[in-house]
Amino acid sequence: MLRIGQGIDFHKMVEGREFWLGGIHIPHSKGALGHSDADVLLHAICDALLGALSMGDIGQHFPDTDAAFKGIDSKVLLTKTYELVRARGYKLVNADSTILLQAPKIRKYVDEMRATIASVLEVEIDAISIKATTTEHLSFIGREEGIVATANVLLMKG
Ligand code: MG
Repeated sequence: MLRIGQGIDFHKMVEGREFWLGGIHIPHSKGALGHSDADVLLHAICDALLGALSMGDIGQHFPDTDAAFKGIDSKVLLTKTYELVRARGYKLVNADSTILLQAPKIRKYVDEMRATIASVLEVEIDAISIKATTTEHLSFIGREEGIVATANVLLMKG
């Protein structure tokens, strides 16, 4: 039995915040604003995992009104989300994602992100794809006011 899921997440980019993306810290003058560490990619993957099994969304499982999740490392949220998937008897086949941001260039960080996510989701690095694109200076992303990530996952029983 196969199940497919998709997720998308948006965060505002502001001065004076640490920038966490794909489970790692990236040096940058701005960081994503949010209740947790605001890791937009991990949040999109969490939503894709939950969506694949019709288990709602990240906001239902980890409400941003709950003090327990304030400043939390999103790898913890991804770990907890994957525990829900495993409890249903499913495991990840592969995940594909796209990050939309104007700056900084993240190519040199992508393999570390892939390895980090693969380790949390108990798959080989080859099962985790991360792509990135700018928006050619268009929109809030192009003005470096925000960041977006989308993710798709395939799960299989077993
Ligand atoms: Mg989010």
